[in-house]
Amino acid sequence: MKDFILVINSGSSSLKFAVLAEQGQTVILEGLADRLGSKDASISFKFDQTKETQTLTLGSHQGALSSIKAWFDQHPEIAANLSGIGHRVVHGGETFNQSVLIDELVINAIEECASLAPLHNPANVKGIKACQSLFPDLVQVAVFDTAFHQTLDQVQYLYPIPMAFYRDQTIRKYGFHGTSYRYISQALGQVDAKSLQQGVIVAHLGNGASVCAIQNGLSLDTSMGLTPLDGLMMGTRSGSIDPMILGFMAKSEGKSLDECLSILNKESGLLGISELSNDCRTLEEAMKAGDERAKLALEMFCQRTAKHIASLATSLDSIEHLVFTGGIGENSVYVRQKICQSLGILGIQLDQAANANLVRGQTSDISKTDGNVSVWVIPTNEELMIALDTINLIQA
Ligand code: AMP
Repeated sequence: MKDFILVINSGSSSLKFAVLAEQGQTVILEGLADRLGSKDASISFKFDQTKETQTLTLGSHQGALSSIKAWFDQHPEIAANLSGIGHRVVHGGETFNQSVLIDELVINAIEECASLAPLHNPANVKGIKACQSLFPDLVQVAVFDTAFHQTLDQVQYLYPIPMAFYRDQTIRKYGFHGTSYRYISQALGQVDAKSLQQGVIVAHLGNGASVCAIQNGLSLDTSMGLTPLDGLMMGTRSGSIDPMILGFMAKSEGKSLDECLSILNKESGLLGISELSNDCRTLEEAMKAGDERAKLALEMFCQRTAKHIASLATSLDSIEHLVFTGGIGENSVYVRQKICQSLGILGIQLDQAANANLVRGQTSDISKTDGNVSVWVIPTNEELMIALDTINLIQA
């Protein structure tokens, strides 16, 4: 039976892809098309333990997908087993609360949500349309980052601004990283079945970062909002700040609104404070070498994450589990330790040795046995979730 799924994640200037087999458990091919839209665009293919990089003469999403099609033409044994394509779509608005088979109506609805994610949704649609023309025989599925959070109550998702903004323009909290949270909730359920009826907080800490409160497997609250700028301090994003700061930036520096928003999205967070890097690993190394600003940036990141975790706990009946995931959550011993240090008030106690010595890439319990809350590190796998949704919808 054909069971290979092509997973596509189109960003504004990049396109990540993978081919997953055996119910998503085996990665056959991985790749990245980078710097799309520039003359330096390139695409790399990692297959059979070798990596090959090509220059993209047509540095567009269509050009990247044409190269992927050409790769399949050279590897007919892989192409023959493809059964569908799963697309990560960033914003599903209030229209999509689960993954769907793509047709013209779905494409129109994703385009309508583009006002809420102007950088991401148009790129997602470009990827979908290019796949429709290049792979006309393959079923396509859209998997939305926002869908998992459609269970939020309006008490959580409304902003305290005039209701007309929600009524007329659906301005509300949507939340992101939903595919990761859904995966983590299920993966935790596999190691501790009771967790599916309990209170769980997941911290997805990567270059983009958010936290989510999950009860009975459903999202009750999350830190990102209308856009992925809200909530935690991130690699280059400020997260939540006093909105009046925008006015001061605009007035005192004479900047346009777009310039101010670009500063909050691209020049803030870990990068803005450290003035060194947005990369956690680089900052940890600099901190160890005595860089005070790298230390400050990391301390702020940890403190603000802890604060958001504590605030999300108010939406749960009780908290039994805290899970760290994402590049930072899975790999930084320092960040996990520092965040948990501030969360003793919730009964969270880390086992220092377990935190320091966990096996990378595996699910680990890093809490003290006498703590009230189980603290876990679980590697996320959004591609697997996208592949499984695609398989399920093809079979349905
Ligand atoms: P992501 O966006 O999920 O790919 O995560 C990227 C972030 O993870 C970057 O800030 C990396 O520096 C961070 N990261 C990856 N490995 C490590 C590590 N060993 N220690 C600390 N941070 C790490």
